[in-house]
Amino acid sequence: MADPLLTFTDDGIFCPIGDFHIDPWRPVPRALITHGHADHARSGHGMYLATQNAAPVMRHRLGDITLETVRYGEERTLNGVTVSYHPAGHVPGSAQIRVAHKGEVWVVSGDYKIEDDGLSEPFEPIKCHAFITECTFGLPVFKWQPQREIAAELNAWWAENAAQGRNTILGAYALGKAQRLLSLLNPDIGPILTHGAVENTNAILRAQGVRLPDTVLVTPDLNPKDHPGALIVAPPSALGTQWARRFRPLSDGFASGWMALRGVRRRRAADRGFVMSDHADWAGLNTAIAATGAERIFVTHGYTSIFRRWLEDQGYEAQIVETAYEGENLDTAEGAA
Ligand SMILES: [Zn+2]
Ligand SMILES: [Zn+2]
Repeated sequence: MADPLLTFTDDGIFCPIGDFHIDPWRPVPRALITHGHADHARSGHGMYLATQNAAPVMRHRLGDITLETVRYGEERTLNGVTVSYHPAGHVPGSAQIRVAHKGEVWVVSGDYKIEDDGLSEPFEPIKCHAFITECTFGLPVFKWQPQREIAAELNAWWAENAAQGRNTILGAYALGKAQRLLSLLNPDIGPILTHGAVENTNAILRAQGVRLPDTVLVTPDLNPKDHPGALIVAPPSALGTQWARRFRPLSDGFASGWMALRGVRRRRAADRGFVMSDHADWAGLNTAIAATGAERIFVTHGYTSIFRRWLEDQGYEAQIVETAYEGENLDTAEGAA
């Protein structure tokens, strides 16, 4: 039998015919990168290929790398293998990578979500024979609310805190979730403050034309009294620290897909948990997989055994592959930008 179009090696997903890797976790000569999160875009590769929209964040994170860019849908040929990048709807600039050779098509989805968040290029289903998918939230209990409902709850909580003389702090990873939350806030309620890690990514995305509300960077000499009723967006690691305590009285909240699990909400002990993720929920995974028309599905991380069994029951040929991707992690959370 001929080599499969993509194989799974100790370095990452590899195309033997095209001689390139996709989102490799060890240094390789040629790396095609789906998006800028740290578990997908790592340092040390010889050359990188990513979307134009993912490039600024990657350069910021990885420094002086040899990076070529493509537009969504633009085709490149690598050793006779055609590759193209298509929106994944996960974070701004994120892509699924389509790999085609002699009529056979495979798609590596990277991380993705189906709902249009208004910031990321909306997910596009791509027809293929084999589809490589995460299943971070591959259980029926993971069912996301529409974004506008989350926005209403978020703003009501903030307004209530402000009316009670409390500040509000939201933990969100610096690339993607933070900007998505910012875009949902109603700036009429009060001032919006940001942690440096979040503001760095904001600046990069604003320069690319992503529209975000006005924010004030929290500097060491910022006086919280000058910003009553503020909402502060910070990486999850900043919550509960000295950095955050200066804003007391304070109500804190998290936004994560994991907030769908009661046990996680309890352990987290935040005042509010919003169920919101940049990954597909159960229905989203199933919709995306069905839309590809693929008969072979590879599941990479999350509830892989349960999800594989489910897919087999649906008539797919499903396999689990071990990767170093992290999914949505509550604490370190999707690679600081
Ligand atoms: Zn990601
Ligand atoms: Zn990931």
